[in-house]
Amino acid sequence: MKTDSSATTEIILSGLGVSGGIAIGPAYVVESGVSQVPEYVIAPEAIDAERRRFTEAAAKARRQIKMLKAKALVLPDAASEEIGFLLDAHLAMLTNSRLTRGVERRIAGERVNAEAAIQAEIAVIAHGFQEMDDAYLAARIADVREVGARLIRNLGDRDYPAYSLLPPGVVVIAEELTPAETALLDPGIVAGIAAVAGGAEGHTAIMARALGIPAVLGVRGLIPGTRSGDPVIVDGRNGKLIINPTPATLAGYRADQDLLWREREQLKCLRSLPAITRDGTSVALMANLELPREIDAARDAGAAGVGLFRTEFMFMNREDLPGEDEQYALLRTVVEGMPDRVVTARTLDLGGDKLAGALDQRFLETANPALGLRAVRLSQREPRLLETQLAAMLRAGVHGPLRILLPLITTVAEVLWVREVLAEVAARLRRQGVAIAEPLPPLGVMIEVPGAALTADALAGCSDFLAIGTNDLTQYTLAIDRSDEQVAHLYDPLHPAVLRLIQFTTEAALRARIPISVCGEIAGDPRFTALLLGLGVRELSMTPNKLAVVKRRLRALDLRSATRRAQTIMDQSDGARIAELLDEFNAAES
Ligand code: PEP
Ligand code: MG
Repeated sequence: MKTDSSATTEIILSGLGVSGGIAIGPAYVVESGVSQVPEYVIAPEAIDAERRRFTEAAAKARRQIKMLKAKALVLPDAASEEIGFLLDAHLAMLTNSRLTRGVERRIAGERVNAEAAIQAEIAVIAHGFQEMDDAYLAARIADVREVGARLIRNLGDRDYPAYSLLPPGVVVIAEELTPAETALLDPGIVAGIAAVAGGAEGHTAIMARALGIPAVLGVRGLIPGTRSGDPVIVDGRNGKLIINPTPATLAGYRADQDLLWREREQLKCLRSLPAITRDGTSVALMANLELPREIDAARDAGAAGVGLFRTEFMFMNREDLPGEDEQYALLRTVVEGMPDRVVTARTLDLGGDKLAGALDQRFLETANPALGLRAVRLSQREPRLLETQLAAMLRAGVHGPLRILLPLITTVAEVLWVREVLAEVAARLRRQGVAIAEPLPPLGVMIEVPGAALTADALAGCSDFLAIGTNDLTQYTLAIDRSDEQVAHLYDPLHPAVLRLIQFTTEAALRARIPISVCGEIAGDPRFTALLLGLGVRELSMTPNKLAVVKRRLRALDLRSATRRAQTIMDQSDGARIAELLDEFNAAES
């Protein structure tokens, strides 16, 4: 990490505060376009291991190229010969060449990681070729780069080291962090996040909140204004990033940090208190999980169960697919981590902003990912994916109450199809003598597409429970990309259209006498609690660290007045007026 102590002017940048809290620390800037080619300094004692990493990556690259050469032999003579020459040139670059020697020298001399050494060496070699003003050599630059890219890919086989090897307390600054990359961040190491791209309800924001890492997304002018090592403050409450803060700013934020910490400690007292309104109505406050390791936080926060387990995160940051046994083991950890409380496992919801190495190129690269082969549609295209998941879920259901939830449903036919697949998978497992949940787990449907909300009565008729996904429901109702910072100001779950769909769905579920929950981000925002309860919802699922604030709001709430206020709100046609009515009610009640 480079440090530059000469830059001292305080710069305040604004963005979307998507994950609350304050982080103060040195910046770690992920270079643009190369977010998976990290650059970091290694300890002197790590030099040998880093060189070995590089040697192994080079050996693997040679094996890969020899295999390609063997395959090229079956091509027509001329093509085979030409490709053979090319691959020989690649092999030569990987065997005691200027490139390999240069990389090893940089690892030892500059004490940088192998990826950074490769990048630097490739840049110097390419530059040298360019300088020679020779068309043949200029064409070889592409070869050099290709070899470099292959080496870096091979090094990436192990977990992305950039984030796990950063010094504790850094603030990661990037053009964009994908949800998969965010899932790799260790809150014990990464104190804060700031990025140019990203909306408040995208999965990067959701993941930052789940990890409890303060984050500001959609920050304009962030790069190139910031350099690694610059002292920065992430103010996740107010959506500010402060670079090179003055001593006075720093002192103010440190005081705020103390206040927040004290408030958090106070909220802990609520853990064991019942989630019940002032006038005695119980509400189930459940947890949303992305990673199995969040289960401890959910239990500690006193969650009544898991209302949404986003299983797609099991598929990220790897090149292969998790098999049935692996998925079963993970689900079992979650089920056993919540003894006697229900766990709602959602089937794969990849696509949109959630990508997975093993499937991206085959299915997920599409012009409109949010409208494409996402979620249950991907399951229909590749039923094996669903069968494997359902088998793992049926087996995990032996260890505790489990429900199965289907994402992005739009038709009754999709639900009936999954029911059939579930029955077939169950029959196969029974034949094989494998223990499964009996009776079969309840099968529920996410209502997150306007078309599904408008036919909620039909969907309720073939489902055991409904869960309203307000993140997508808002996105699809208002045609606002939930992860695009440029339209984030238009993203409004209080838009009357969204509220009417929530109301319609809730009433359909209540009429069908099946459970209904809200598991979008508004469920974890105390601003919305009175409205959702007033509309008839009695189950809210949220990131575990929001449970306490929602419980505090709920315990201060009179449900009868909340219901009356919800009725007044539902008569309105203007989002701004709705917000006013809600905020006024909240202010008077708390
Ligand atoms: C939602 O859309 O509200 C939801 C809970 O699902 P996800 O955020 O995973 O899309
Ligand atoms: Mg959704």
